[in-house]
Amino acid sequence: MKKFIVTGGSGFIGSNLVKFLLKKKFFVINIDKLNYSANPYNLREIKKNKKYKFFKLDINKRNQIYNIFNKFKPDGVFNLAAETHVDRSIDNPKKFIESNIYGVYNLLEVLNKYCKKNKKKIKFIHISTDEVFGDLKKGERSDENFPYNPSSPYSASKASADLLIKSFVRTYKLPVIISNCCNNYGPNQFPEKFIPKLIYNIITNRPLPIYGKGKNSREWIHVKDHCEALLKIFLRGKIGETYNVGSKQNISNINLAKKLLKKIKIKSFKINKKVKIIFVKDRPGHDFRYALNSRKILKEMGWKTKITLDQGLSQTFDWYLHNKSFFNSVSKKLHVNRLGLKI
Ligand code: NAD
Repeated sequence: MKKFIVTGGSGFIGSNLVKFLLKKKFFVINIDKLNYSANPYNLREIKKNKKYKFFKLDINKRNQIYNIFNKFKPDGVFNLAAETHVDRSIDNPKKFIESNIYGVYNLLEVLNKYCKKNKKKIKFIHISTDEVFGDLKKGERSDENFPYNPSSPYSASKASADLLIKSFVRTYKLPVIISNCCNNYGPNQFPEKFIPKLIYNIITNRPLPIYGKGKNSREWIHVKDHCEALLKIFLRGKIGETYNVGSKQNISNINLAKKLLKKIKIKSFKINKKVKIIFVKDRPGHDFRYALNSRKILKEMGWKTKITLDQGLSQTFDWYLHNKSFFNSVSKKLHVNRLGLKI
């Protein structure tokens, strides 16, 4: 039975990946320091699963992380431990440097030492983002060789980690693969992020705040499709390579909010009059457009998304509606961000 370490396994994508891997009958070790975006609700149903182990630990704790590698001798590692919210990175970049750069450096040192002492093959998949490529022009799509041009402390920290990894692969021949994915949505996402924030406000009869004029455009992937891509990358990806993971489903924020409202109107859910789109002061340095060229993963591995944005939005709304306790178990140490998040 294959064994995987997932770091950041209690957060949004990590918890979906942990459950996805367990469903495939793999053994999963989750390492997470449990910051504000980790939610116990996300993994409540698997706590007693015999194929699941959890360690509350910061990825910067080098000796302890090394001991976990050595004890379990995993076939693969998926690194999703990171600070992830752009607004928070603008207010407090330090944490992003600590987890997203120093944390990755630490994992690379652990991997280097581990590989020198162990013959068993291991693949380390680092989960990065399309934001490293920065603002794209209309019609442009960034492939894996597109120049990095990050705009926020968050995307700069992710870009730094990617470059550090590339240098470690070349210099120390470490078995690492990078994936750069577009915006994810789906169950378990902390409601400071755009889609769960919209859904939370719709369910609780509040206005829907949107930055600027809502013209900023993103590419959206359902988290389940992302998990499938990550497993494919582990199984078929080449060491030292980078793979874009995109859906080609690009939409502006305003059109996304409208699409969501339209989807919900078709259901029997009654939308309160207070639920209306309002525009708020734009985020500083806000990238206008991200769009990936993901032909490489399609061509080399035959991977493509299965869930359309229409299907995914509808399912995602239903999930939050039927799991209102998710919102109750969200950390109360909330940062009231520029969108005025209040729970
Ligand atoms: P999230 O904020 O929901 O979860 C991050 C998890 O990492 C949390 O459980 C947190 O406790 C943990 N963590 C943070 N710092 C840690 C540390 N130093 N040691 C141990 N655990 C730590 O984030 P997410 O949206 O699930 O993102 C996961 C990864 O995927 C990140 O690397 C992010 O950059 C990347 N990514 C996210 C998206 C997206 O749209 N959400 C898109 C592309 C890439």
